[in-house]
Amino acid sequence: MINVTRSSLPPFEEYCAEIREIWDSRWLTNMGKKHEALEAALRDYLGCRHLALCVNGHLALENLLEAFQLKGEILTTPFTFASTTHAIVRCGCRPVFCDIDPERFTLDPRELERRLTKDTAAVLPVHVYGNLCDLEAIADFGRRHGLPVIYDAAHAFGVFKDGVSAAAFGDAAMFSFHATKVFHSIEGGLAVCRDAAMLQTLNDLKNFGIHGPEEVPFVGGNAKMNEFCAAMGLCNLRHLEGEIEKRRRVTERYRQRLEGVAGLRLNPVQEGVKSNYAYFPVVFDGFRLSRDQVFALLAKEGIHARKYFFPLTNSFDCYRGRPGFDPADTPVAAHIADRVLTLPLYADLALEDVDRICDLILG
Ligand SMILES: *Cc1c(COP(=O)(O)O)cnc(C)c1O
Repeated sequence: MINVTRSSLPPFEEYCAEIREIWDSRWLTNMGKKHEALEAALRDYLGCRHLALCVNGHLALENLLEAFQLKGEILTTPFTFASTTHAIVRCGCRPVFCDIDPERFTLDPRELERRLTKDTAAVLPVHVYGNLCDLEAIADFGRRHGLPVIYDAAHAFGVFKDGVSAAAFGDAAMFSFHATKVFHSIEGGLAVCRDAAMLQTLNDLKNFGIHGPEEVPFVGGNAKMNEFCAAMGLCNLRHLEGEIEKRRRVTERYRQRLEGVAGLRLNPVQEGVKSNYAYFPVVFDGFRLSRDQVFALLAKEGIHARKYFFPLTNSFDCYRGRPGFDPADTPVAAHIADRVLTLPLYADLALEDVDRICDLILG
C-alpha cells in the first residue's frame, strides 16, 4: 500500500538521545530546554528574530489573528485546508473569498481591489503546496490600504526565494509542523511576526497570559509545545535538507513522466525559488480519465492519492447558507478543486513506485 504521504522520522536512537535530558530533568513542557533550543534553531534557519512555537499550526494562526486584534472582513481564498477559513470564523471575523491564480493556485492579487470594502481588516493568503504567492502585488496592496498581510505558510517551511525564507514575507506568517508536513514535530506550529511587542502578545496567548507565579496581566489560552515535540523538531531539523533532496528526486521523476502529457497540468517551477517539494498536484483537465476515475483506479491498486483541496472551504457543510460562502464566486478555484489530485510524495517513495503510479495513470 502507498499512502499520499508518510511521516519522516529521525533514527530511533537519535530521538532517544534527544529526550534523555527530559527524563533526567523531569521538565516535560512549559518552555523547557528543548523548546528554547528549537526556537533558537528556527530563528537561525528562517532568519527571523520574532517567533513563537505553538502546539499546532492552527492555534498559531488563531493567535496571530487575535494578536492583530482583527475585526470585520479578511481577504483570503477557499483553496486551502479547513484550518485557514475556520481560524478566521472562530476569531469572529468574516472570510471574503478571492479567486486563485490558475497556474500556482494561490490568491489572485487582481481580486483584492475588487473584494475590498470599508470593513476589510487584513489579507490572509496561503502559499498553496509551497508555491509562493505573488508577494510583491500582495505587499503593495497591503501597503496602499494599510492592511496587515498574514501568510498561511503551513506548506512552505523550507521554501526560500532568492535566499530569503517564506517566514520573512508579509507582516506575519504561520507554519504547521504537523506529522504530515515536510518538517514536523509530531504536532506543532510556529507564529512569526515582525516586532517584539507582538511576540510578547503571542507568548501571552499561548500560556494563559501568565508572567510570573503571582502575575497574570493578559487573558491568554494554552497553545504551548511540549518538550517531546520540540525534541522531535530538533532531530528532524538536522535531517531536513536530506529529506527535501529525496523529495526533489521523486518530484523530478514525476515531472519526467507527466510533463507535457495532453490533458495533464502541473504547477510551474517558480523562478528564484528553492522549493521544499511538499506536494505533487496534477490537474486532470481534458485527460482521457477524470480526476475521480484516476483516484479510483489508483485506490484499486492500494495507492492512495488525495483530492487536496476538495471540497473548497466555501462549500463546506458547516458554512451552508452563510452569505459569501459560494464556490460559484470563485470559479477558478472551483474548476481546479474538481480536477486536482495530489499524488503520493514522501522522501522514501521508491522511483519504481513513482513509475508504477505514472504507468497506471498513463495507461
Ligand atoms: C496543515 C495546515 C494547517 C494547520 O496546521 P496544523 O498544524 O495541522 O494545525 C493550516 N493551513 C494549511 C494550509 C495546512 O496545510
